[in-house]
Amino acid sequence: MRLASYAFLTEADWTRRIDELDRIAARCELCPRRCGVNRLAGERGFCGAPGGLVLSSIFPHHGEEPPLSGTGGSGTVFFTHCTLKCVFCQNYQISHEQEGRTFSEEELAGKMLGLQAKGCHNVNLVTATHFLPWVLRSLRLAAESGLAIPVVYNCGGYELGETIDLLKDVVDIWLPDMKYGRNEPARLYSKAPDYVEINQAAIRRMFRQVGPLRCDPAGIARRGLCIRHLVLPNDQSASRDVLAFLQQTFDPQDVFISLMAQYRPLHGADRHALIDTRVDAREYETIKRGFIAAGFEGFYQDPEKLDAAFVIDFKTRKEESLNGS
Ligand code: SF4
Repeated sequence: MRLASYAFLTEADWTRRIDELDRIAARCELCPRRCGVNRLAGERGFCGAPGGLVLSSIFPHHGEEPPLSGTGGSGTVFFTHCTLKCVFCQNYQISHEQEGRTFSEEELAGKMLGLQAKGCHNVNLVTATHFLPWVLRSLRLAAESGLAIPVVYNCGGYELGETIDLLKDVVDIWLPDMKYGRNEPARLYSKAPDYVEINQAAIRRMFRQVGPLRCDPAGIARRGLCIRHLVLPNDQSASRDVLAFLQQTFDPQDVFISLMAQYRPLHGADRHALIDTRVDAREYETIKRGFIAAGFEGFYQDPEKLDAAFVIDFKTRKEESLNGS
């Protein structure tokens, strides 16, 4: 098995990264909210996360993009709380309702090794930014015990450059969202009026770090960038602006896109008329044609073939996944 990048980090490499993340968390600037609270002392900021790990669910996920799920599944680790908390969050049970329980670093390390033993192709950290000092300590423990599959960093794309830099050679596959192409809906739905600038800078930085998505002969992703864009109804994700940025910034052949049609009006979406509905299939198809015409390859969903399975019930899922090995 080809080893992931973090398998080659030295003790000094790990220590430097973890010390720096501890320093950042002590006046928390782990994400662009820059709350300044002392997370190491248990203070909480916008995300609501305490000091230490809180997780909702860990399991081999067979519904991620094909290069990630492959045949063995993607080893998803869903962290509780979130730095964005979008009103329509498709995982609102963990981001808003704080479904989950505390974990020790050793326990998480054991779970990651368990995912590898089950044949998962990667460890897929879902929304981990607000727990990064503790996550890296767990990863270090797991790496010392033989974890060697790639780490996927699955995030909302609202990330600081310093944080991205500290994950160089820890993360092999960046899996960020581009949620919005304009700041007004980002302000309205995610309380992030600076989302677009921060997101676009983050995407550029991630690409410089890992390059295009590269797969092994079996089609399983080993390293690179995959960008997710969840199309919101009534142009609320400003998909044409997202596409325009990508066209201006990248060679289309270098970027793997996952264009998602699976939006459901969940949680607080009913307070906003424009997103209180499913995405119209014709609207998705128009956006999809634009991406394809521009030369972007990747994963495109068929809106007619989607079912409710894309929405995970974390209240039932945690029973089967946190307690098992
Ligand atoms: S990780 Fe949480 S506490 Fe830290 S800056 Fe972001 S929202 Fe604030």
